[in-house]
Amino acid sequence: MANDIEQVIIIGSGPAGYTAALYTARANLDPLVIEGFLWGGLLQQTTEVENYPGYPEGVMGPEMMQQLRDQAERFGTRFITDEATRVEPGFHGEPHTVWVGDDEFKARTLVLAMGAEHRKLGVPGEEELGGRGVSYCATCDAAFYKDKPTIIVGGGDSAMEEAIFLAKFSSEVDVVHRRDEFRASKIMLERARSAGNINFLTPYVVEEFHAGEGGKKLESARLRNAETGEIVEQPMAGAFIAVGHDPQSAIVRDIVETDENGYVMVEGRSTRTNVPGILAAGDLVDHTYRQAITAAGSGCQAALDAEWYLRDNPEVPTPEALEGVGDLAEAQWAPAVK
Ligand code: NAP
Repeated sequence: MANDIEQVIIIGSGPAGYTAALYTARANLDPLVIEGFLWGGLLQQTTEVENYPGYPEGVMGPEMMQQLRDQAERFGTRFITDEATRVEPGFHGEPHTVWVGDDEFKARTLVLAMGAEHRKLGVPGEEELGGRGVSYCATCDAAFYKDKPTIIVGGGDSAMEEAIFLAKFSSEVDVVHRRDEFRASKIMLERARSAGNINFLTPYVVEEFHAGEGGKKLESARLRNAETGEIVEQPMAGAFIAVGHDPQSAIVRDIVETDENGYVMVEGRSTRTNVPGILAAGDLVDHTYRQAITAAGSGCQAALDAEWYLRDNPEVPTPEALEGVGDLAEAQWAPAVK
């Protein structure tokens, strides 16, 4: 097989991608990571990480990602700080192809680790006021809203967790949810209910975010009662959106099997997708645990699955016509027949 075919290409650079890189680098597989412009994944947007084992004093999210990257680099990982734009699978032992714009890269195995993004509401004002009142991370931004009114949009465990955290800073937190029932677990809901300054506004949807005078900062949102149609103009200094995550699987949707929400499906407890030699790890696969440590763990699994795939699949594939009559890869190493 030609020299310019990589053993492994890793797409994505959160804890899953960099851990897969670390392990494959240490297995002498010389990994190439296509890490994106904004490398480091969602942890680049967080502040203090206190629940990653090994950091008793905690660590800042961006610093931790730098360290994960440095550790992978120390063992020879190469990086392309750009976005993968297209993937084409190879079958019958042919390499898989990844494009970064017009540049083409081929590899015997791929590790997909593109992660997930905060889901957007897609309403007017949301994008324009991003970072100026509208946020997707209470743990990052709650402190900016000390003694000010805020809302959380969503009705799942994340919304409750964020509301409870936010309530420590904000004067009042309104949980705005589109139904009267909550998806959140009972215990989280109860904790939120027992905080003195969390209120529940249901069934309401956000129709539009509005800036104050000068257009610089969020000042209110137009809410609509999902049953009666009643409109409320709700004043607020901050709005936190916690309506779930969307996996970043767009470039592989037609290639590997995904579930109805776009998460990549893997075989059992492995990281194997339905395409031989293509592995998937981290938040791209996992919509339940979504922790840095679980993503790192699955990145390690993907690296081992890649290693085992390469070990078990000969470099020179048996052409279909020769199926069952011998393996070319073995043939070229076999002692000459006397
Ligand atoms: P989730 O459970 O999918 O909840 C998303 C919430 O957002 C739902 O209430 C949903 O409403 C609402 N929603 C979705 N799209 C919306 C839209 N376009 N407009 C308005 N509302 C919208 O997501 P999650 O809360 O991020 O939790 C994900 C997983 O992580 C869950 O398994 C959860 O248990 C787990 N988790 C656990 C903890 C914990 O402490 N144990 C903490 C965080 C997360 P509907 O209900 O009407 O669909």
